[in-house]
Amino acid sequence: MGNQLLKISHLKKSFGETEVLKDISFDINKGEVVVILGPSGCGKSTLLRCINGLEEFQGGEISLDGQNLSDGKVPWHLIRQKIGMVFQSYDLFPHMTILDNILLGPVKAQKRDPKEVREMAVSLLKRVGLEEKKDSYPRQLSGGQKQRVAIVRSLCMNPEIMLFDEVTAALDPEMVREVLDVMLELAKQGMTMAIVTHEMQFAKAVADRVIFIDEGRIVEQNTPKEFFEHPQTERAQKFLNMFN
Ligand code: ADP
Ligand code: MG
Repeated sequence: MGNQLLKISHLKKSFGETEVLKDISFDINKGEVVVILGPSGCGKSTLLRCINGLEEFQGGEISLDGQNLSDGKVPWHLIRQKIGMVFQSYDLFPHMTILDNILLGPVKAQKRDPKEVREMAVSLLKRVGLEEKKDSYPRQLSGGQKQRVAIVRSLCMNPEIMLFDEVTAALDPEMVREVLDVMLELAKQGMTMAIVTHEMQFAKAVADRVIFIDEGRIVEQNTPKEFFEHPQTERAQKFLNMFN
């Protein structure tokens, strides 16, 4: 309990008449890596977007560090500084260098010392193997490199938790590994993360816990070993069979 960082209770989300998330409840502890799996259209992206304040929802509650995020008292732009999110598309500003892209949030939005943030950015770029790209422009980088920059940009905001939504789905196969390795490294260093992915080997390796969603409900929640070796439901078995 004391270790709990993110708490989601009875989350309900509809688009018009369509109920997309139906009573979703789960917690993520500090330092824990939760992988969220499920068939296309089951609501994974919507769930992450609700957590990050990008979607309004009709019912339930989300809290971070015991603070209710959904009562409208804390502005979402502040919440988003605590909850980093990386998507399939990395939307770096094309007219800005890699370093300036990274510094924008911490310096402009968080009003932090540019020198301190710059040092942090350079050291993180080094960690993901991109130090020499700091003065390049996004167009000069490969997709995998841009995605690593997007991760660094998010980390520089000092988030308490990172959300990843299929960050390798749009990458050429040879670039997938380099991005997954960065995420594995983050996990090892104790970053709290919620990861949506279709990379099953990676999911197995990185997850402390797997949550399987189907049709807007959590159908299974287990250790990766149990989930992958002994899925409890036919739906999870069917889902896993697609990857074999
Ligand atoms: P997943 O990420 O698991 O593939 P999504 O969360 O993207 O699933 O979508 C869940 C369901 O919500 C789908 O049926 C999708 O068509 C619907 N949906 C997602 N975004 C919107 C939107 N902005 N407006 C209407 N329906 C949406
Ligand atoms: Mg999605």
